[in-house]
Amino acid sequence: MDSIAAIILAAGASARFGRPKHLLDWDGRPLIAHVTDTALSAGLSPVVVVLGHQGRKGLAVLGNRPIRAVTNWRWQQGISTSVQTGLAALSPDTRAALFLQCDQPLVTRDLVQALVARFDETQAPIVCPTYDGEYRSPVLFAARLFAELADIRGDVGGKAVMRRHPDEIATVQVSDPSVLADVDTPAEYDALRARAAAANLQAPRLPSGILNCTRHLIIDMDGVLWQGDAPLPGLQEFFAFLHQRKITYILATNNSSRTPDQYAAKLAQFGVDILPDHILTSSEATATYLETIAPVGARVYPVGEEGVRHALIRHGFTVCEADAEYVVVGWDRQLTWDELAAASLMIHNGAAFIGTNPDTSFPTEHGPVPGNGAQLAAIEITTGVRPIIIGKPEPWMYQEAMRRMGASTTGTAVIGDRLDTDIAGGVRLGLTTILVLSGIAQEADLIGSKVRPDLVVPDIRTLVQSWPSSTDKEIGD
Ligand SMILES: [Mg+2]
Repeated sequence: MDSIAAIILAAGASARFGRPKHLLDWDGRPLIAHVTDTALSAGLSPVVVVLGHQGRKGLAVLGNRPIRAVTNWRWQQGISTSVQTGLAALSPDTRAALFLQCDQPLVTRDLVQALVARFDETQAPIVCPTYDGEYRSPVLFAARLFAELADIRGDVGGKAVMRRHPDEIATVQVSDPSVLADVDTPAEYDALRARAAAANLQAPRLPSGILNCTRHLIIDMDGVLWQGDAPLPGLQEFFAFLHQRKITYILATNNSSRTPDQYAAKLAQFGVDILPDHILTSSEATATYLETIAPVGARVYPVGEEGVRHALIRHGFTVCEADAEYVVVGWDRQLTWDELAAASLMIHNGAAFIGTNPDTSFPTEHGPVPGNGAQLAAIEITTGVRPIIIGKPEPWMYQEAMRRMGASTTGTAVIGDRLDTDIAGGVRLGLTTILVLSGIAQEADLIGSKVRPDLVVPDIRTLVQSWPSSTDKEIGD
């Protein structure tokens, strides 16, 4: 498949700066990692990182990001050698390459995607941002100019090729020049960081249209509101913001083990008062689904922890140990072979098979352990019957959340930390999707992912900071 690559130029010694710029801290990451993550989250592939001076250190800070790292041993001969090294790492089916510098930390995913979109739209062999009539970096070059780029010598970059093709340059107009500012000296670096912090430019600039239209939110909890037993930053302010803006919400979790009251109690410990009715577990959602297909008082065999049993009883079902018409399976950390056997036999005898959620594994500090999906698989293999799944990414739970809020697809957004459940479920229903990077998914997971959230933010605190004020007509474009 043809692709648009990123070539990140990080080989130089940064002589004017006095130390390698690509290792400077930017918002908790070295600049080289920050720029790499921007390229990855924009969907560029492959992302080639050209290292040279202190290359090993550069490689170490990139961790296990899915990149192609190459070393320019001739880095002292100028930037042209890095361009050549980067191009040599591309496969022949590459359509174009965007050259990113490590010293432009405010270049955003949105700008990168706008450059790619402009390329797709115009087919111009050169695309770059422009401000005040001046061509700026980062520049995208189509494959047909790669040979010319590889011919440049000395400390000259793509500008030489741009000068030869003045009529073949398409541009993306940038309204805020600070997005393109580069770091040449320690003083500039400090100034840019201070400016970014003051103007909150490190936060993504969110499309105001989408968020201004959002009246209802379906919010995942673990990895979004808290991590383990610790609240995530900005939790109280997040709910204060929702109340102030009169945005209704449902907290929705695939975790079937606890009851809504238990989640409300957990939030109360973090200083947030939520009515249990605003909390929808996959057990609760399963009980509401059963209400639509089963008569009142129907016999249900529950596998699962307190949350499953509690929801079934609350919705008027008869919880039983034998002869059930319905088998509901949720995550159960005390699961026994006898229970698996009982569930299997009842399903074999004609009971409907319903799973609260499909999560195959559950993350722990030691690694993944079996989740409800693994339990469901055991019963499915035994019986040959596929379960009806209620939790994300299946539609029922989000639909139930919308019913509770009186919401429709338009104006409803989901917030979650998992691409395969939270975001995929929202995409299926045509909801606005917001991925936070405070839980499971990281920016690098977006590369190659078929599931694309509408917005990606570090956490809920940044989301609130970036949300357009109620009087803003148009910002962030
Ligand atoms: Mg989560």
